Amino acid sequence: MQTQAAVLNQANGPFEIENIDVGEPQAGEIRVAIKAVGICHTDLVIASGALGLQFPAVLGHEGAGFVDAVGPGVTSVKPGDKVLLTFNSCGQCRHCHDDHPAYCQSFMPLNMVCVRTDGSTRLHRDETPVADNFFGQSSFAGLAIANERNVLKIADDADLAALAPLGCGIQTGAGAVLRSLNGKAGESLVVLGGGAVGLSAVMGGAIAGCGPIIVIEPQEARRALALELGATHAIDPGAGDPVQAVRAIVPDGADMVVDTSGYLPIVESAVNMVGNLGRIGLIGVPGSLDAVLPVPIMQWLTIGGTVRGIVEGDSDPKVFLPELIAHHAAGRLPLEKFIKTYRLDEINQAIDDAHHGKCIKAVLLID
Ligand SMILES: [Zn+2]
Ligand SMILES: [Zn+2]
Repeated sequence: MQTQAAVLNQANGPFEIENIDVGEPQAGEIRVAIKAVGICHTDLVIASGALGLQFPAVLGHEGAGFVDAVGPGVTSVKPGDKVLLTFNSCGQCRHCHDDHPAYCQSFMPLNMVCVRTDGSTRLHRDETPVADNFFGQSSFAGLAIANERNVLKIADDADLAALAPLGCGIQTGAGAVLRSLNGKAGESLVVLGGGAVGLSAVMGGAIAGCGPIIVIEPQEARRALALELGATHAIDPGAGDPVQAVRAIVPDGADMVVDTSGYLPIVESAVNMVGNLGRIGLIGVPGSLDAVLPVPIMQWLTIGGTVRGIVEGDSDPKVFLPELIAHHAAGRLPLEKFIKTYRLDEINQAIDDAHHGKCIKAVLLID
């Protein structure tokens, strides 16, 4: 079947709206008519070609829509079901069995290698294979092929534009606090960066009852929004030493720091923000893939500190996404405050707006 897609023909784009052919779903696959898809920072990292993406390619990994067709063996959804897409996992390995599919042993081939294991692609343009399967979906398109492990049936009246970003950015930020760092009521939380992931970490902290919740973010509008969403303090890193600012609020140091910025000078400062038994969670992708975080060993063993990397907020999507949908319905995840919608053919504008601080979370709508 033919559909429109935002195709990337070269590193760093631009995305070009083109007709592509989408194959029939094979065993375990689900073809989804995409109605809304969020743009996540990882799309742009991969679009740079940093991880060896082949072109042409279709990215997009926060898709939501309706099931269009199912391949052999699919039992969890049927055509017409409203669904949310997320990252893929194998369901067979030790970490999948232990409810940690974000650390699936096959995470890279299932999410980042943009062909099937037999080398075939689900997408073609004329006769040319198009790199697909990004996060098991490639949803910057009217039709995407996903898999039973990364498709979640949701209520018929669900708002797809609001819920689409749950599939990556929102579950990553909220899950970092609620799952990865296991934030508890009364624990102090510092969030570095006030983009969609950082604001989701703030909301996750508020859901857990953490406090104080301190956001460090250079843009004034984002600081104001963070305060609306549950932060108790919002600090401009340009106004002085952020470590001193944090220590002025929590003199003994913070219990948790979540970095969503990937900006090395501020990530390095996190080491001096935490107190005894402090945990640092790393989400932000650094500018260089070789970036290093130096940890002072004596200080670190004395305080019992932890630094850990975080993928997808340690989400087990079939459990955590329904929880997040319930939090959204109850008003505890007011994503609408920072989602801005665009048409699929406005994708380059949406990315430009995000770069210039005019938009925190862009969601593309497809007719
Ligand atoms: Zn697995
Ligand atoms: Zn993402």
